[in-house]
Amino acid sequence: MEDLQEVLEGIVEHVAPLCRDGAVASYIPSLGEISPEKFGICVAMADGEVYGAGDWQEPFSIQSISKVFSLALVMSYDYDSIWQRVSREPSGTPFNSMIQLEADQGIPRNPFINAGALVVTDRLLSLTGDAAGSIRGLLRLESGNPAVDIDAVVAASEADHGHRNASMAHLLASYGNLENPVDEVLAAYFNQCAIEMCCEDLARASLFLARHGVAAGGTPFLSPNQSKRINAVMLTCGTYDAAGEFAYHVGLPGKSGVGGGIVAIVPGRCAITVWGPSLGPNGNSVAGIAALDEFTTRTGWSIF
Ligand code: GLU
Repeated sequence: MEDLQEVLEGIVEHVAPLCRDGAVASYIPSLGEISPEKFGICVAMADGEVYGAGDWQEPFSIQSISKVFSLALVMSYDYDSIWQRVSREPSGTPFNSMIQLEADQGIPRNPFINAGALVVTDRLLSLTGDAAGSIRGLLRLESGNPAVDIDAVVAASEADHGHRNASMAHLLASYGNLENPVDEVLAAYFNQCAIEMCCEDLARASLFLARHGVAAGGTPFLSPNQSKRINAVMLTCGTYDAAGEFAYHVGLPGKSGVGGGIVAIVPGRCAITVWGPSLGPNGNSVAGIAALDEFTTRTGWSIF
């Protein structure tokens, strides 16, 4: 295999022509202002070594990637009782679809579509009293960067345009699948989605999933089984209704966000993050998926 740094630099060059394919998310207006030309990639190895190229140290809005960390926190407190309130099947519908939620009587298909994430955030709010704050705390601790924070402008922009998420939260409440008031769950959810991080910090913060649940300090945060389960749900449900395509092209568990970031895990080896703001029709970064495809092809680091 080529030197890892050279691989990453080659990938930045390879995906540059793709950065304008697709469109930057504009349904959250403040995300629509980001340049589609940005692209970053970082690999954090399980032993702590880090490699990066492109805009890998520039913060971006992690959006739905936060759902991995809320799920991990809830599982760390509650083991697996959350699965009584959320399923773990791919949805086959867009991340913000409401049709399925009604058909399934208020039990979301998985924790990574918005409806499922609202239920997880609701649980985390009950457990900690501050869901977004506890996610931020975990991210600071695991990344080693105490400056990781919530972008209040993005959170406000999302709240102002969050009618669909609000509808979904009310529908969940109507089925008795929220423990806290809708407004509090929504505020926590918008704040967690508005956390800003760069590829480097996000890769470091995701490493517990590559280390079978072991946190940055060397102590277990999740059991190996829980870490395996989160990786499994990322593989099957982590990239909206394009999870099959993602598995086919990349061959790793991954979670994307509409800010254009994607985290992918090579269990036992490393965490990889990519960021390219322009999204394809399913809400995944076009350049990011191409980069991960190229990465697993060049390195052979896939779970298959
Ligand atoms: N905050 C976004 C929303 O709720 C998250 C979507 C995403 O990244 O998938 O619409």
